[in-house]
Amino acid sequence: MRKMRFGLNKSSVWVDGSFNSHKAGIGIDNEWVVGLIAKYSKVKTVYSIPKGMALNMMFRRIRNLYTLLFRCSIRTPRKVKGIFYQPQLTSVIAGKNVTRWVVRVHDIFPITNPEWFRPWATKIFWRSMVAAVRQNALIVCSSSTTKAAILKNFPALENNIFVLSCFPRDLFMLKCERCDGCQYQNANFDRQYFLAVGTIEPRKGFDVLAKNWNSFYVESAKILVIVGKKGWKSTKIVKRLRDASKTGAVVWLENVCDGSLSIFYEQATAFISSSLDEGFNLPALEARANYSLPLILSDIPVHRELHSDSAYFYSSVAELRNVLLNPLKPPQRWDMNKSKIQIEEFTQILRDFTYGSYSEN
Ligand SMILES: [Zn+2]
Repeated sequence: MRKMRFGLNKSSVWVDGSFNSHKAGIGIDNEWVVGLIAKYSKVKTVYSIPKGMALNMMFRRIRNLYTLLFRCSIRTPRKVKGIFYQPQLTSVIAGKNVTRWVVRVHDIFPITNPEWFRPWATKIFWRSMVAAVRQNALIVCSSSTTKAAILKNFPALENNIFVLSCFPRDLFMLKCERCDGCQYQNANFDRQYFLAVGTIEPRKGFDVLAKNWNSFYVESAKILVIVGKKGWKSTKIVKRLRDASKTGAVVWLENVCDGSLSIFYEQATAFISSSLDEGFNLPALEARANYSLPLILSDIPVHRELHSDSAYFYSSVAELRNVLLNPLKPPQRWDMNKSKIQIEEFTQILRDFTYGSYSEN
């Protein structure tokens, strides 16, 4: 063993390919970070996972379940001798052939709020975080709020944690003309609406919106369009969404292509997020940065951290009603310079890595 130092341009970065199963916020952000790293190095995908969405999900679930049941780690390929980039903490990777881990963490809700997840998700997540601490991983989280939550639970990461905000992507897409979103727009696209985007799961707070929107609709004449796939622990929420759909106050669209989604953003009156908590909330940033939509956001720390100068915050149904019935101003322009500085710092950290335990043989 000897101490050696090398720039990223000489190393390989291996990416746990399982993140490709997410086509929404997390997946998009991870592809962006991989793109940043790729500018300085050679990026390879560790796992060749089936390309189809359903197969991909199944493969990842089986892999996670396997490591949980047999308390074993997923092995990296024998020849990984570079940086390992693991985009999300849903698996435990054996890092013995890896010189340095870089791990993207958006939130640690499976640990802080296990009630929002299935039990196995919390177990896998705990094991993954402990493994990251043990491997001396560089944690790249997307907000200061998440950083604080991580350090509260894992103070040992103090010197290895960095904030890199998510980046709003440029949407330039064509409608597919086949999905629920395209069909809905083609049929009746003349109604004013508020837009909410996110997986249907407990943390997003959609049940409260669905429960109250009928009376908001009567008063404001604006419907609520929710775009999001059905996720975990969603049976009760789905029932509530279906009930709310019957009156026409709420439109829930599960299957919406990117092209159609971008048109929903363009035409919306405002963007609304009712989340009980968020690690970053990429859709809210995109609504602001790309579409200049007024933001109506639940009053949670990360929404305050990112949008305190620009959003309408609410913490009760009465406050939400008040916001909905009054005129809304567009947000201030999102400051891209902050992101540029963070990106520069991030790539500098990668360039400066010193691998104390790396051996060439
Ligand atoms: Zn479509």
